Amino acid sequence: MSEQWIYLNGDFVQKHEAKISVYDHGFLYGDGVFEGIRVYEGNVFRLQEHLDRLYNSAKSIMLSIPHTKEEMKNLVVQTLQKNQLHNAYIRLVISRGVGNLGLDPTSCGTPQVIIIAEELALFPKELYDSGLEIVTVATRRNRPDVLSPKVKSLNYLNNILVKIEASLAGVSEALMLNDQGYVAEGSADNVFIVKGNELFTPPGYVGALEGITRNAIIEIAKDLGYVVKEEPFTRHDVYVADEVFLTGTAAEVIAVVKVDGRVIGEGKPGKETKNLLEAFRKRVVLEGEKVYTETFK
Ligand code: PMP
Repeated sequence: MSEQWIYLNGDFVQKHEAKISVYDHGFLYGDGVFEGIRVYEGNVFRLQEHLDRLYNSAKSIMLSIPHTKEEMKNLVVQTLQKNQLHNAYIRLVISRGVGNLGLDPTSCGTPQVIIIAEELALFPKELYDSGLEIVTVATRRNRPDVLSPKVKSLNYLNNILVKIEASLAGVSEALMLNDQGYVAEGSADNVFIVKGNELFTPPGYVGALEGITRNAIIEIAKDLGYVVKEEPFTRHDVYVADEVFLTGTAAEVIAVVKVDGRVIGEGKPGKETKNLLEAFRKRVVLEGEKVYTETFK
């Protein structure tokens, strides 16, 4: 792409000019919220759900987003149009704004609104064919009563520590447990295990983000006749599952074939995971914020 336009506080600016102050509290303290969204063939997948999660995260940390959801929808679409993108990843960032060096957010002016849309560097097809090897790590998921994992804040240190542990172990992704030892989620994805016709995924209170892909998979799986249970489970349950997979906006649905050295099922992506990925990929193109496709496609 020769030019990339970033939406920054009311203007579209070129990527190399898209800069914010070092006094922004998002930069200084991770004080802000964000969303990662995907557009498939001009359909923004579940934009309303993403905006609901964004505004709930903002409400939780008492950050007032200076736009209505309707305005924000239009800004997302305008950013896609400006960059002529039909298949892309969208990053929406709202930071507390420019303040002084103290923690107190009341020193900050208006929150900063940033929208980045870019072509998605898709995961290599081989990874979907071979599946991932992952580990569980020592870093625990934030306790919901400390910093709720439901708040998609700019404070991702917990998840970054997971990534560091994963790469030290020579793998690209890892599972976090919560403080009681139940499996919570990956560094940037939710986890499911399959046993026969049943799917299990940790409930929100165990300490997982309420993933939009997770929700879509739960719906799709129920439509396909699977029994879906949101129940806590342990590493042992993961090791002895028929299949394990991760879900997320970027990864969609990706099989896990080895966890902490234990081979899962037959050591290759299982048929239920493939089935769900296929159904998911069909749905993302059909379903979307169609209201924008007439003007956009
Ligand atoms: N958990 C975490 C910690 C994440 O950052 C993400 C990515 N947003 C997910 C799960 C998956 O959520 P979604 O399906 O909404 O992308």
